Formats: sequence, C-alpha cells, structure tokens
Amino acid sequence: MKVKVLTIFPEIFPGFLGYSLTGRALNEGIWSLETVNIRDYAFDKHGSVDDTPCGGGAGMVMRPDVLGAALKANYQGGRLIYMSPRGEPLTQEKVKELSCEENLTIVCGRFEGIDQRVIDAFNIEELSIGDYVLTGGEQAAQIMLDAVVRLLPGVLGNADSTADESFEDNLLEHPQYTRPVDWEGRLVPEVLMSGHHKKIAEWQKEQAIEITKRRRPDLMKKYLDSKRV
Ligand code: SAM
Repeated sequence: MKVKVLTIFPEIFPGFLGYSLTGRALNEGIWSLETVNIRDYAFDKHGSVDDTPCGGGAGMVMRPDVLGAALKANYQGGRLIYMSPRGEPLTQEKVKELSCEENLTIVCGRFEGIDQRVIDAFNIEELSIGDYVLTGGEQAAQIMLDAVVRLLPGVLGNADSTADESFEDNLLEHPQYTRPVDWEGRLVPEVLMSGHHKKIAEWQKEQAIEITKRRRPDLMKKYLDSKRV
C-alpha cells in the first residue's frame, strides 16, 4: 500500500507508526509512506497556508489555492481522504475496506479546517476518528493508518489472528487472562484452564455478548439484527 500524507508538519511522521508492527511493516516495504509539506506550495516566501474565515469568526482556514496546488501535484489516484471531525465515523469495517486499497492520499487539516471548495473540487472523502476535536489531522491520520496497516497481509503473525477481536461479528472481545493463575487471590476462570476447547469457546462467546450488552447497546443491536436474518 502506498500512503501519501499532505500536512504542514511532515516531521510528525511516521511518529508511532515507525514502531512495532507498523514500523516493521514500513521497513519491510509492506507499506510506504511519503509526506508532502503543504507549505512548499505556498505563494509567498513565508509559506502561508491559511487565511481568515470568510463571514468572520474565530481562527484561520487553510487556503484552497495552496492546498489545491499541493493536491494537483501529489494526488496519486485511489482514495483521497480528509481527516475531519465532520467526517463519516471510522469503524473497523471502514478500516478493513481501506486496507484493501493500493493508494491512500490523506489530507491533514489544522486551524479551523480546510476551505470547502477543495473538498468539493477534489471530491474528498471526510473521515472522523471520533466525536471530539483534535488540534490537527496528523494525529487522526496516524490512528487511522495504525488500524489499517495492521490488517495488511504479512503484518500480523498467525498467532495474532483478528478473528476474535473486538468489532468482529459486532461484539466486543471477551476478557483475556494469562499466568499466574492465582494473582493476589484473583483466579483465572477455571474453564480457561480446562483444555476443553468447545467449552472455552462457548464461555468466551457468552462473555463477549455480556460485555457488549452492558457497554455497547448500539453494537449489541447490530449483532442481534445480524443473527435474525
Ligand atoms: N473547526 C473544525 C470543526 O469544528 O469541525 C475543527 C478543526 S480541528 C481544530 C483541526 C483539524 O484537526 C481538522 O481540520 C481535522 O483535520 C483534524 N481533526 C480534529 N478532530 C478530528 C477528528 N475527530 N477526526 C479526524 N480529524 C480531526
């Protein structure tokens, strides 16, 4: 997968993506990362990328001419995404979909965001990592890429199968335990030490359903709906 990130802070990358599984995958060429400094497309010697909002109001807005020039020179085809709190919520389903793409071009906003005309002109898809406002799209882009890259073939080992993870089948994951079996009087549930694979799987499923019901009624509804067909 080829990833290109348009940002005014290229030095933030690869950030935590340079570590662990995503870092190893980057070194092994499973994915590539190119950063584009939007300031390189500014029209003045100060590298100005923003201006005051039309109609007044607080903050600054990223200029369409500068960002547009950066996009014209760098858009590589494939998905074009603007990280935005107004965007479609990023879900594991969306992450899976993105992990099948060859090319991702990601625009990171700053200030009050980017001029709407760039979004319209380039038909940019807006994605949000949650219902809260960050200072910049770089953090959001790294979170999205972390989730996407770990699903690329060859990134997770066999032992790290995603089959039982949270959001598979619309359920949260069951609780996990490891040794020691007795930690300060708190015991690992007996069934997990029984070696009885069917019973263990049943217990884990029950726990997953229970925890989803309690914490995420919205997911539980999706799970029940999917079983009703
Ligand atoms: N004025 C914008 C609003 O109210 O929707 C918020 C702009 S925010 C301060 C600056 C940039 O951070 C945005 O352009 C976007 O790229 C990024 N950002 C902030 N929150 C985000 C989120 N929840 N998901 C994705 N990107 C986000």
